[in-house]
Amino acid sequence: GYRARSAYKLKQLDEEAALLGPGDTVVDLGAAPGGWLQVAAEEVGEGGTVVGVDLQRIDEFDDHDVETLRGDMTEERTRHYLREAVGEGGADVVVSDMAPNMTGEYHLDHARSVHLARQALDTAEELLAPGGDFVVKVFQGEDLDAFRDDVAASFQYVRTVSPPASRDSSSEVYLVAKGYTTSPVAEGD
Ligand code: SAM
Repeated sequence: GYRARSAYKLKQLDEEAALLGPGDTVVDLGAAPGGWLQVAAEEVGEGGTVVGVDLQRIDEFDDHDVETLRGDMTEERTRHYLREAVGEGGADVVVSDMAPNMTGEYHLDHARSVHLARQALDTAEELLAPGGDFVVKVFQGEDLDAFRDDVAASFQYVRTVSPPASRDSSSEVYLVAKGYTTSPVAEGD
């Protein structure tokens, strides 16, 4: 079984968008307790690499070879560590399921979610190899469109996906961006 029901969200996103493949290097931001890490490890297989980071400690896996780090994605030193872990070849996929501690105050929760999502985008831009893919959770609200535009500027395309496994809960959506490109994608092409 999976450590978290959220594992099924990554499975559904992967089924829709063909994100994870054998041998891939995958970085998972906000990875505790580790459901997405289990799914990623299954999909990349023995030749792949999976690295997970979270504010919370992630228990070790007996059945998967996964590298985990306790760290804060808003701190540069965490990103530095990830660059070292991923190495020259870069990552094939960066996923972020990061979420702020909920206050119940809609605008505040949205703003914090977008802030974390922007940290994930900056990190993805540092880590991804050309052509790589990026998935990020963000709560719906007034800043979502502007954030989506910023993601779109660095990838071939971006889609907004609401996986069935997350529809019962809240206002969360996932932006699925495919084909990282280091030069901005021209608008209207
Ligand atoms: N995808 C995970 C799984 O399948 O097990 C569940 C992730 S949970 C919904 C969101 C996680 O984001 C929490 O564990 C939280 O600690 C983490 N998080 C929030 N802010 C963070 C930050 N600044 N740096 C690292 N992790 C963060």
